[in-house]
Amino acid sequence: MRWDNLADNTTQTGAGALFAADAVTTRTFDTPEFRGITFHEIRARSIVNRVPGASRMPFEWTVNPYRGCTHACVYCFARKTHSYLDLDTGLGFDSQIVVKTNAGELLARHLASPRWHGAHIAMGTNVDCYQRAEGRYRLMPGIISALRDHANPFSVLTKGTLILRDLELLKQAAEVTEVGISVSVGFTDRELWRTVEPGTPSPERRLDVVRTLADHGIGCGVLMAPVIPFLGDRPDQLRDTVRAVAEAGAQSVTPLVLHLRPGAREWFMAWLAEHHPSLVRRYERLYADGAYAPTWYQRRVTRRVHELAAEYGIGPARRGEARRLPPPGTPTPVPVRDDPGPTQLTLL
Ligand code: SF4
Repeated sequence: MRWDNLADNTTQTGAGALFAADAVTTRTFDTPEFRGITFHEIRARSIVNRVPGASRMPFEWTVNPYRGCTHACVYCFARKTHSYLDLDTGLGFDSQIVVKTNAGELLARHLASPRWHGAHIAMGTNVDCYQRAEGRYRLMPGIISALRDHANPFSVLTKGTLILRDLELLKQAAEVTEVGISVSVGFTDRELWRTVEPGTPSPERRLDVVRTLADHGIGCGVLMAPVIPFLGDRPDQLRDTVRAVAEAGAQSVTPLVLHLRPGAREWFMAWLAEHHPSLVRRYERLYADGAYAPTWYQRRVTRRVHELAAEYGIGPARRGEARRLPPPGTPTPVPVRDDPGPTQLTLL
């Protein structure tokens, strides 16, 4: 184990807006699950972020206890946010993790403020709050406890099976307020999973989370994201995924086609060139107009997933869920106000 002070060996442009530079500690752990990963522990100055332009978004307030994500999804839209901390958006995003160690206490204080009005808080909207680091830092129990104690409605979007550790707390919270859980499973193709989401639990294990939550009376939707063109959009792949989602007992399934904004685009295209070079031209054409696949393509995928959902008996997203998750294809280039730089909002 090694301890450093990040401010001693790293230039943290803009980091002062997020935390005091002298309050940063860099730490590595010599255990297999954290080998090669560096944690930058900070005491954040604020934890509740307002999403500007929330009229276009299904939620207005977010809490993100981590920056960077060891789930290391190649397409991750949050990569660019690492550049605001002068950290690398490629491997650096996967292995340099900022941890807001005081997230729970900050949130408790925020919720107790007479100025706070009890609005819905969304988590997992930037990076995964149940990524591997959470197993060590255990920030979410404090966060969920604070939300429970203040009967504050909230939602969590995750690819992490670690959420089941907090099942009891989630049940307690669900007794006093609205709790929405969504698990992200874009496909069940194991080969694709191994290469494109190398640090995540397998799709099967994520669907076990859905099943377990349902068994305990906590409704859970699946964000089928991303549907990856030419790699995860074959009819049999869509069918296999929706069928597995249905069998897991998900309340709803919401497809979202891959989008490739700057930061994610370069990293994904480099991966594509290495693993599927024959697809590079097709991608350049499909994403020629920018970050989003053409509307006709998004509609085609969405319609097919909805047809399959109906066939397998998964209900449409309820009104409450629609508030937490955007409709398929919704652009989400949303800055978060109290992080340094124009942080963009992502969906897992
Ligand atoms: S897409 Fe989600 S789970 Fe994957 S690396 Fe990004 S934040 Fe983590």
